[in-house]
Amino acid sequence: MDAISDQRARLGDAAKKFISQPKKLLIDGLWVEAASGKTFAVIDPATNKEVGRVAEGDKADVDKAAKAARRAFESGEWPSLRPMQRERLLHKLADLVEANADELAQLESLDNGKPVMMARHGDVVMTAEFLRYMAGWATKIEGSTIDVSLSYVPQGQFFAYTRKEPVGVCGQIIPWNFPLLMAAWKIGPALAAGCTVVLKPAEQTPLTALRLGELAMEAGFPKGVVNVITGFGPTAGGALVEHPEVDKIAFTGSTEIGKLIGVNAMKNLKRVSLELGGKSPVVVMADADLEQAIPGAAMAIYFNQGQVCTAGSRLFVERKVFDKVTEGIAAFAKQMKVGPGLDPSTQVGPLVSQEQQERVLRYIQSGFSEGAKALAGGKKVGATGCFVEPTIFVDVKPDMKMVREEIFGPVVCAQAIDDVSQIPAMANDTIYGLGASVWSTNLNFVHRLIPKIKAGTVWVNGHNLLDPALPFGGYKNSGIGREMGRAVFDLYTETKSVCMTV
Ligand code: ADP
Repeated sequence: MDAISDQRARLGDAAKKFISQPKKLLIDGLWVEAASGKTFAVIDPATNKEVGRVAEGDKADVDKAAKAARRAFESGEWPSLRPMQRERLLHKLADLVEANADELAQLESLDNGKPVMMARHGDVVMTAEFLRYMAGWATKIEGSTIDVSLSYVPQGQFFAYTRKEPVGVCGQIIPWNFPLLMAAWKIGPALAAGCTVVLKPAEQTPLTALRLGELAMEAGFPKGVVNVITGFGPTAGGALVEHPEVDKIAFTGSTEIGKLIGVNAMKNLKRVSLELGGKSPVVVMADADLEQAIPGAAMAIYFNQGQVCTAGSRLFVERKVFDKVTEGIAAFAKQMKVGPGLDPSTQVGPLVSQEQQERVLRYIQSGFSEGAKALAGGKKVGATGCFVEPTIFVDVKPDMKMVREEIFGPVVCAQAIDDVSQIPAMANDTIYGLGASVWSTNLNFVHRLIPKIKAGTVWVNGHNLLDPALPFGGYKNSGIGREMGRAVFDLYTETKSVCMTV
């Protein structure tokens, strides 16, 4: 069998059925074609072949969806639901994600390229857990009672309190690296808070967001509460950012587009939260447990083909163990099985698209031309599909292009640490500040280092340890706001102060 029929044969019946039908937009509880009638192709990055088509939503469709979301927010069933009813709906959605886990994992792998086992046991499991965590918050969003003085009102007693109210209609724009999980990250807290949403998945990976839309309807969310518009960034995404009915924009994606969206959203003083790029440092100390640190640092970068905003793409290793660690990572990289994501034995799938593959290969080329040396990888794999070898560079200088810019691929640049006092400066030598990890058995040292690292998350003896209860977001050019945990409700609520004389 050729690669294409191989891929199709690995899909279960449910996934096959889903992609065999043309995909429409979810607006006001109905599946409709784009107003323009246009569609665009869904490409399998393992074969570079079209596997289906989805509606190409643009301004006209966003307008309909935003108005539907406004109606659903202001009137009808949704605003009158009690918190516990919102909680139940989110749990129901999580149940449905679990019940359809294999199909969702296969669709994710087909669309994004990621290993199906990762999708099944990582993305899909986390999606359900995330929705459940957010479901619990629906009943726990609370204001406070506040003792006020009001000294200029001579006589009187007062009762003052705050209410946390849903921010309104949320436009949520997500990237292609964790399409389903990102969709859940976005809609979960918004729905828990009582908002309504218009979700715009990335054009490279629309499938699972559409399936999640179907599941949301099946779960019983009232019409207009969850709308899904597939389409391109500047058209569908841009229209969402500018739409007057949208109160808040939540964006995850590149820093370049995030800045543009932030500026455009601010023109109408929309609330905006941005989760952007990274160039996260991984610091390996000589006293680390290297049995743990070597595979840990390797997976910090190679997980999800390096297409992770917190990918550990800058590796700093104490000189004494530099060769051992970098050679260990190179050996790890060389034995990883590269192949189509739907093959259950695959560890490294293709990158999401040809464009991304070319971009990553250009960065690798820039590394070679600037004099770095690849201990492993450095090439694409095969003639078809968007595959790139897991790569590690040594002989790296801090000013090299591939060290400074986010690659979003399986490429790590290793530098030696000669002076431990320089670690904060080395780790912080980037415009980004999303994640960082430190590998060491000296926890006193680690705890003295953590406050000096400018990153939204620091992991110790681990990397990419994400949990819905832990706030997540970036310092510097990595974004604005914290998603997850209690913190995310700062993004999805307005605080109203109430003061009365009694
Ligand atoms: P990447 O570089 O990872 O593809 P992008 O930041 O370009 O990330 O895309 C992330 C999301 O932002 C996608 O859903 C994309 O369609 C959307 N997007 C891209 N450009 C714009 C734009 N000008 N306005 C609104 N959304 C956009």
